[in-house]
Amino acid sequence: MIKKVFEKPLNLLETIFFLDFIKGLAVTFKQGVSKTITTHYPYEKLTPPKRFRGFFGHKIVDGFEPQPAFDEWVERMKIEPQKGASRCVVCYLCKKACPVPDLFEIDGKKLENGKKVVSVFNMNLMLCTFCGLCVDACPVDCLFQSDIHETASFTRRDAILDLQKLETIGKSWQQRREEEPDRIWIDDEARDVLWRENKLKLPKVDNA
Ligand code: SF4
Ligand code: SF4
Repeated sequence: MIKKVFEKPLNLLETIFFLDFIKGLAVTFKQGVSKTITTHYPYEKLTPPKRFRGFFGHKIVDGFEPQPAFDEWVERMKIEPQKGASRCVVCYLCKKACPVPDLFEIDGKKLENGKKVVSVFNMNLMLCTFCGLCVDACPVDCLFQSDIHETASFTRRDAILDLQKLETIGKSWQQRREEEPDRIWIDDEARDVLWRENKLKLPKVDNA
């Protein structure tokens, strides 16, 4: 059944003095003279929230791996963790979770003691939808998405993230933002500056 909705009839005052029209103009005028809340990108840049889904990175072994998951997976996959290098345990769960698994190229190298380390980890981001399923699947909090979002380039090669790039992004992230609470905005003060006073004084992101 279709419910019929009728226009509210105007009363005499509204008809004579165009009250609705004046109310509409008042809103337009108010917005016209208020300060802008948009940013002048690329001259002003906001720091994306911590949970932003940007370029990927590999967190490195630094003694703060999620426990007991990390030790269990290291044991299960016979991995030799390397301090300062990727936490990856070569479990392929990220690749299995991905709707486009062929964008991953992952391999491990055997060491003399019979254990292994990750030796190849390439991601072709030209095929990636940035859905984050691979990140959710990683059992050792290695693969993550960073705040790096200015990723345009002149070559297709730049869209391939290799192990070295992933580790560099991971190290930078752990220094810059690992300790930061997970909030929508970088901090409540910065959000207030933007949305209440409209004066942008947000910290600059070092995207490297
Ligand atoms: S973000 Fe989605 S599409 Fe991209 S690699 Fe991860 S799972 Fe695959
Ligand atoms: S899920 Fe994590 S640990 Fe496993 S292969 Fe992918 S990045 Fe490495």
